[in-house]
Amino acid sequence: KTVPTLTLNDGKTIPQLGFGVFKVDPTETTRIVSDALEVGYRHIDTAAIYGNEEGVGQALASSGIDRSELFVTTKLWNDEQGTQSALDAFDASLEKLGLDYVDLYLIHWPTPAKDKYVDSWKTLAQIRESGRARSIGVSNFLVPHLERLLTETDVVPAVNQIELHPAHQQREVTAFARANGIAIEAWGPLGQGKYPLLEESVVVTAAETHGKTPAQVIIRWHLQTGNIVFPKSNRRERMIENFDVFDFELSHTELATISALERGGRVGSHPNDVN
Ligand code: NAD
Repeated sequence: KTVPTLTLNDGKTIPQLGFGVFKVDPTETTRIVSDALEVGYRHIDTAAIYGNEEGVGQALASSGIDRSELFVTTKLWNDEQGTQSALDAFDASLEKLGLDYVDLYLIHWPTPAKDKYVDSWKTLAQIRESGRARSIGVSNFLVPHLERLLTETDVVPAVNQIELHPAHQQREVTAFARANGIAIEAWGPLGQGKYPLLEESVVVTAAETHGKTPAQVIIRWHLQTGNIVFPKSNRRERMIENFDVFDFELSHTELATISALERGGRVGSHPNDVN
């Protein structure tokens, strides 16, 4: 069973399930990403601020996997927003990754207090035109931030990567994104282990019904909802578990009972508070 791909608004395709490396220790990143590639993941989500782009790059290089089969995302950190600073930051990320292009480059946070995200977005558009980022998008953008990009530039983000899990579904921003052809990437898809999603009885019941684990049920909920996800784990057995989600399907009723877990359960920062 292979990972399905979604087609983005720029015509490029993205594997719907990937592997995220937030909080993966730089000294362990090569081993952990190599494990993930061996398990079968081909889509890796990193960021300059994670400090582990070099380790990701080493794992990609030593895997022997053809570049065309890999999908690599990295992100522009807040302090580097702007024009020249963003170009320089992008170059530094490519260099650390050891790549000549990334598949997806994102503005990590809108940081509205800096008011530089529109300029940064125009810079990302330039980077995409140069071919060094195949697709560009944003992360942690709320509706007003997306609206400004749509009115002040002529490039629609391919994705918006936001905190999203059954307890925090961000219905306003996902509705706006879907109406405008922006794909949703769900970060913290399992609630980062901070929110007790895996113990919710509707999740446990669905897991028992299908002979799967609660984490597999939540990942399946994301995939069937249309989200792109890249759950993180340092442990190989959990990488395998989180990848083994293509041999069952949740019913409409199960999807609905899991969607009813919405309770504004944000585990990360509010985008307007991050600078
Ligand atoms: P996650 O929801 O994937 O949770 C990861 C944690 O869940 C792990 O540390 C582990 O404790 C637990 N876990 C993983 N698999 C499990 C399993 N099978 N059973 C039980 N527990 C399990 O959270 P995340 O890592 O924060 O999010 C995924 C990725 O999203 C990140 O690695 C990163 O790439 C991205 N991300 C982006 C932003 C952003 O601002 N754009 C912020 C946070 C994360």
